Amino acid sequence: MAQARQKLGLPPRSANPDDGYTAIVLYADDTEYLGVNGNLASKNIVFPNPQQFAGAIGHAEIDGLNQLYADRLVSGKSGGVGIMYVDRMPCTAYCLTEYGNGAIPKAVSLTGLNGLEIYYVGPDGETARFFILPTDLLWVLGM
Ligand SMILES: [Zn+2]
Repeated sequence: MAQARQKLGLPPRSANPDDGYTAIVLYADDTEYLGVNGNLASKNIVFPNPQQFAGAIGHAEIDGLNQLYADRLVSGKSGGVGIMYVDRMPCTAYCLTEYGNGAIPKAVSLTGLNGLEIYYVGPDGETARFFILPTDLLWVLGM
């Protein structure tokens, strides 16, 4: 994660005070995608009907999955399980709402992934894992 932040030109992660940026690394199709939030996120939203993501456009997780989606439009690949590392817990307001009815499961579905494993480092430095299916199921593991 520290390397990903460096590649993105971000400062090292700071929780207190919060540095305000979220970085992700997504591995899928033998490719490493780096995503970031806010004004550094790509403005080139390839996902159809971006309003379906509501406030999650500009969130690092969706930034990364949007890049995968764009590549898969070209390659025609689908399936597989993606692995994503996030340097904070994905937000429950937009990205991971209850029962997975959030932006990340929608994005996973659009990319054609069979699932997405998300690892993140929580506020106390603990690592937690989510497994997200491209449906409205969300399993929370290792909490
Ligand atoms: Zn979010």
